[in-house]
Amino acid sequence: MSSLYARHALLPQGWASNVRLHWNEHGDLIQIEHDASLQAHGHEYEQQAQWVLPGMSNLHSHAFQRAMAGMTEMAGLAGEGKDSFWTWRDLMYRYALHITPEQILAIAAQLYAECLRHGYTAVCEFHYLHRNQEGSFYARPAEMAERVIAAAEQTGMGISMLPVLYSYADFGEQALRHDQRRFSTNVEEILQLIAALEGKRNAQVEVGVAPHSLRAASISQIRELVAALPVERPIHIHIAEQQKEVDACIAYSGKRPVELLLDSDLLNQRWCLVHATHLNKAEVQGIAASGAVAGICTTTEGNLGDGFFDLPDYIAAGGRFGIGSDSHVSQSPVEELRWLEYGQRLRLQGRNIAGTPAQRKVGDFLYQAALQGGAQASGRKLGQLKVGYRADIVVLDDAHPNLAGIDSTDVLNTWIFAGNDNLVRDVYVGGQQVVQDGKHLRQAEIRAAYAECMRSLRAL
Ligand code: ZN
Repeated sequence: MSSLYARHALLPQGWASNVRLHWNEHGDLIQIEHDASLQAHGHEYEQQAQWVLPGMSNLHSHAFQRAMAGMTEMAGLAGEGKDSFWTWRDLMYRYALHITPEQILAIAAQLYAECLRHGYTAVCEFHYLHRNQEGSFYARPAEMAERVIAAAEQTGMGISMLPVLYSYADFGEQALRHDQRRFSTNVEEILQLIAALEGKRNAQVEVGVAPHSLRAASISQIRELVAALPVERPIHIHIAEQQKEVDACIAYSGKRPVELLLDSDLLNQRWCLVHATHLNKAEVQGIAASGAVAGICTTTEGNLGDGFFDLPDYIAAGGRFGIGSDSHVSQSPVEELRWLEYGQRLRLQGRNIAGTPAQRKVGDFLYQAALQGGAQASGRKLGQLKVGYRADIVVLDDAHPNLAGIDSTDVLNTWIFAGNDNLVRDVYVGGQQVVQDGKHLRQAEIRAAYAECMRSLRAL
């Protein structure tokens, strides 16, 4: 099949009726037919769908953390002190130290299959498990990254692989801790990793880079890295996730993290600032003016107690944003977008926060904005049902009672804000169907490999 007839499709200009999407053998959309009619082939009608949307980019993922989702929710984990992001991170490191190349493939495949079932069709993989358990490079230095890409290929997920530069334990170029040995890289090593992955690039796979944070990489390193990278590649960084990080940055440099990055004159549309939770008004304006994307990971930020992104001021400034599932306590774009809005309602004690005068439907605004921001952060042609873009398509379940008799302009609000059933029925990535009737087509084998992996990891 290289076409799909949609009763209703979400096009860049809004919902349209009677649309036929055509794509070529490479998975790129080549024609959008308007006012089309359903074609009969003998007694059979062509494949059709009621509600068709562009698939969502998941702009921030650490795939291996899927294996520990749900395992750290116990008061007193930190002993006497307060449970926090930092005590969670110690537990996460313990997991990270054990994962083998075979296991990261199994975990990432399970994760990506779940993400696809919920409507994500691309992922930006912020990948920092480079070295083996002892802290040496594998015989193939890109081994772990290659396994993650293999998981994307196995599941059909589009991927932007972002090898992570991780050189220091904290501001001031402090030496890495022993339990950070698997992440250890300098600029030269990251450029070698990227070079080793060049042959993997294709219509489904892009390779960018990610300086981990201003804690783990210095501005001069980042400058050197960016200068050596091809100009179109995406660059992601964690920033201002925790107040402690902001305080440490000020103590070190006299500046807040986003301020420091803005003053470096490095930021532009290639950048994704992951979290960007703790911002002052000037930083909100600065990110928006730079054209960079804010990578908001609401469920993880909620899980880790990070804080609230300043969404209304950022939207008012014309800021771009997308969503990521980060630690994978959720694999659903619906939950990310719902809690992005609900967090703001709780914070501001008001309703209907996300929107503009041009788009007052909260769900439509959030979904469209996250499509655009996620696509930009991926460095790939995604997020629009438009000629030249990938045929990444989500079909909603028109048999679900929530969508019975609904007007197209209420579909996104209903999907995002009503109930917890997964309304995604079918998913196509690059024109290839990967989810049918709510099931990933390779679900059984992926789940079996994951279950075996988890039996050994849970025995740790
Ligand atoms: Zn992260």
